[in-house]
Amino acid sequence: MTTDVDALLTLDAAHVWHPYASATAGVPPHVVESASGVRLRLVEADGTRRDVIDAMSSWWCAVHGYGVPELDSAATGQLQRMSHVMFGGLTHEPAIRLAERLVAMAPHPQPERAALNRVFLADSGSVSVEVAMKMALQCFAADDRPRRRILTVRGGYHGDTLHPMSVCDPDGGMHTLWRGTLPEQIFAPLPPAPADPSSGLDADAGEMAAWKDETARLFAEHADDIAAVILEPLLQGAGGMRIHDPECVRFLAELAREHGALVIFDEIATGFGRTGTLWAAERVGVTPDIMCVGKALTGGYLTLAATLCSDEVAQRISDRTGAVMHGPTFMGNPLACAVALASLDLLDAERLTRAAQFEGALEAGLGPLRSIAGVKDVRVIGAVGVVELEGDVDMTRATEAALAEGVWIRPFRGLIYTMPPYVCTDDDLATIVRGVKAAVRASVDAGYRASEESR
Ligand SMILES: *Cc1c(COP(=O)(O)O)cnc(C)c1O
Repeated sequence: MTTDVDALLTLDAAHVWHPYASATAGVPPHVVESASGVRLRLVEADGTRRDVIDAMSSWWCAVHGYGVPELDSAATGQLQRMSHVMFGGLTHEPAIRLAERLVAMAPHPQPERAALNRVFLADSGSVSVEVAMKMALQCFAADDRPRRRILTVRGGYHGDTLHPMSVCDPDGGMHTLWRGTLPEQIFAPLPPAPADPSSGLDADAGEMAAWKDETARLFAEHADDIAAVILEPLLQGAGGMRIHDPECVRFLAELAREHGALVIFDEIATGFGRTGTLWAAERVGVTPDIMCVGKALTGGYLTLAATLCSDEVAQRISDRTGAVMHGPTFMGNPLACAVALASLDLLDAERLTRAAQFEGALEAGLGPLRSIAGVKDVRVIGAVGVVELEGDVDMTRATEAALAEGVWIRPFRGLIYTMPPYVCTDDDLATIVRGVKAAVRASVDAGYRASEESR
């Protein structure tokens, strides 16, 4: 194929919005021609091609890599039957089987609590969070004094549509612009981080006690208005790639239950093995009442997410307010459901174990950066490796430095990180570590130069 890359990029700049980008002052993106295994094929303006490892798994979803024969054949098989039909009044085997599968694999570490037994299929993660919030609010909507607010912790990220934005970090996030227009939710302080990241997830006891006091006080103050707590258990993703002590999640879940509020887990980033167990909920030991999944659900092939809830929640909503008032056009898209089923087949014990073992290689590779000037922190959990710098990353320098090592990364703020596809070999992981290190070095050097110039 001959591609006129310059012409494409000119058209891109003229007409295309990119995520979190200015329409007029964006940095030109790279053109991807194809993808296979764990590699993206980039094509340059002069027609040269280079294959680079996707250390982002396409924003954390392509866990099996690209051009996966099992997923390809699930998609083509389903295309021959039907790509899409409406879900109102109709149903189909791919959606039914997927719901059955999700229910069977859902976390249930507190067997005394109701299992997640019902599935609402949504077309993106943000929509699944919308649905989760609607479900929680609807549980109280028929009360004399309906509970109207959601409690979360600072530093989170739950999506880009308006209600999910209202539970994103109110300060550090990208949504500061919208303060005043969004529903005002209740924010507990940032949960304490593990005190010594190389030896487990326990936070400092003093910090933990202070956090619990402040959080319990805040909860009690607003208890009769809090419908639910929403959390990313264990790892905050796009809000800042922070790991927190699982004890914080347990504490908040207990508080919620003491005060009659629901527990929503947003496992869109953490689910399907990313943090070392199938669900972060297992590691924290809490069965939520409502749970959102997305991202890796279809192995990155198609957009699909789901909101799971217990029969208790489903019953309460149905008894008190009738229907869940939500029904996207592409709800339960058969093509996406068929691919999701095939993707979950691939996510067997062997693949999950392999992903969990990335922790060792990422810690060994990235851990030593902790002692480098300009590096604030290195955090590793499961198949996630994060280097936080003291200042913001120089995006262009950092990405180009990683590309020169054959690695695609997409840093944000002060964070250079990787969430590799689970099918990476040891060599791929070693290359990713080299790419991340090169990006860190490029950013820290640039920082040095900037500080010298300003002198
Ligand atoms: C990505 C993400 C979302 C939003 O999902 P989209 O599919 O991008 O709408 C919500 N919550 C978490 C934790 C995420 O990582």
